[in-house]
Amino acid sequence: MTANIELPPSQHYINGEWVGGGDRVIPVINPADGTQIGEIPSGDQHTVGAAVSAARAAFHNPHWRNMPPMVREGLMHRLASLIEENASQLGQIESLDNGKPIAFSSSVDVPMTITWFRYFAGWCSKLSGKSLSPALQPLDSHHAYTRRQPVGVVGAIVPWNFPLVLAAWKLAPALAAGCTVILKPAEQTPYSALKLAELISEAGFPPGVFNLVLGDGQTGQALVEHPGINKISFTGSTAVGKSIVRSVAHDLKRVTLELGGKSPTIILPDADMELAIPGAAQAVYANAGQICFAGTRLFAPRKQFDRILEGIASVAETFKIGPGLDPETLLGPVVSQKQMDGILARVDDSVRHGASLFTGGTRHGDSGYFISPSILVTEDRQNPAFREEFFGPVLCATPYDDLNDVAALANDSSYGLAAHVYTSSLQQAHQLSNSLDAGTVWVNTQLSPDPNIPFGGFKQSGWGRENAEDALDHYTETKSVIMKVDC
Ligand code: NAD
Ligand code: MN
Repeated sequence: MTANIELPPSQHYINGEWVGGGDRVIPVINPADGTQIGEIPSGDQHTVGAAVSAARAAFHNPHWRNMPPMVREGLMHRLASLIEENASQLGQIESLDNGKPIAFSSSVDVPMTITWFRYFAGWCSKLSGKSLSPALQPLDSHHAYTRRQPVGVVGAIVPWNFPLVLAAWKLAPALAAGCTVILKPAEQTPYSALKLAELISEAGFPPGVFNLVLGDGQTGQALVEHPGINKISFTGSTAVGKSIVRSVAHDLKRVTLELGGKSPTIILPDADMELAIPGAAQAVYANAGQICFAGTRLFAPRKQFDRILEGIASVAETFKIGPGLDPETLLGPVVSQKQMDGILARVDDSVRHGASLFTGGTRHGDSGYFISPSILVTEDRQNPAFREEFFGPVLCATPYDDLNDVAALANDSSYGLAAHVYTSSLQQAHQLSNSLDAGTVWVNTQLSPDPNIPFGGFKQSGWGRENAEDALDHYTETKSVIMKVDC
């Protein structure tokens, strides 16, 4: 099934050139069958150094720095059009590399990527400072204003669950703000970023504005430690997020972090179950559970608990499990052997600690990294199923008796990325939305990020916000200019 998918060349893209280099080679595996589809070089300090030099030079090059915003906007729209023209290849690459259903990559990943570039293209010409009146000076004696200047060279480090989308979430605002970028895709899923580099080159961005360095965590670490980078934008695990914060303590690079989650799906007794049950199933099983804001903890009224779990399990039974490239597939493999083994070990650990397995909990088939849609039940808030991010198709379900306890139950987590609420009461919807520790609350809908709505985490789910105008705050520095005019 992989034979007719054209993969881009596996090289770094630095200063407008495709280059080799690195201290190791990393195999890239098809998660649907465990076979090797290619290999990438792992960039070392020299590779990172070359990319930083190119990005710094491009940042100061008047061709980019003084480019009128509408011209930059035009380049971004041209890139969006090229992604559109190459949509089917990009969808196939994403499904081959990550394992996600082609029905999903072609309707979610690729269209979102296009949308994000178009949305942020519009910001190029809208980003402005303000004219201000000093509070301590006579009117007309001073002129004061702020400027929004690009933060500089951005190191963008992305994970494997939405390789193209998450690259766009960082690149689009960075380019709109006038920054230059070094992207490091995840070692498991490099190919869509390589295709994107081809299209960025074709769109006509000046050399060095966008650079791509391949490699694993060591390459990421080299980016984080490089003094020539002004800002790191990271999406991935909370553990690596914390290590990045420790690393940047020595030079105080700007950092934004989109990290893990253990987001609740809360079904209230008055919810429309026709909406809530399939919604809860989608929230945890879409993309094989590999979504940072997946609804992985379910809270349902005790009286309706069994009926709701049976409903979710029967929705899950309708998902055809198979390789991502099969157009019928609704549930693909998880990304790697390591992820599969880790998820199954956590299921076992949860059961050992007293959780009961309602359904699933095992590998599906014996080739590829498939896990059956699973539900664990526990009321023990210390159980691993309740606390830990599994990042797979595993729901932890907990019944509740009193509606007044639900927010505290849901908030009992070190994470705070999102929450999914189902109710037909407007009052309950607002009250719960106010009290949940979550960067995003979806009510009677789920999993629908929007480029014009900020996204990010409370607590250990991260620092800063992506998307919307908020994202641009993290790719700009505000400069205040105060000028005496009556001298
Ligand atoms: P990871 O955090 O190790 O990897 C994410 C990215 O960071 C990759 O590009 C990786 O090469 C890079 N990286 C790794 N170590 C680094 C370091 N020390 N410095 C700089 N960059 C580094 O994630 P993983 O090991 O691939 O997955 C482990 C767990 O992370 C998952 O099970 C899941 O819980 C979580 N995760 C979260 C998201 C998310 O969307 N928030 C995405 C992927 C994984
Ligand atoms: Mn890792």
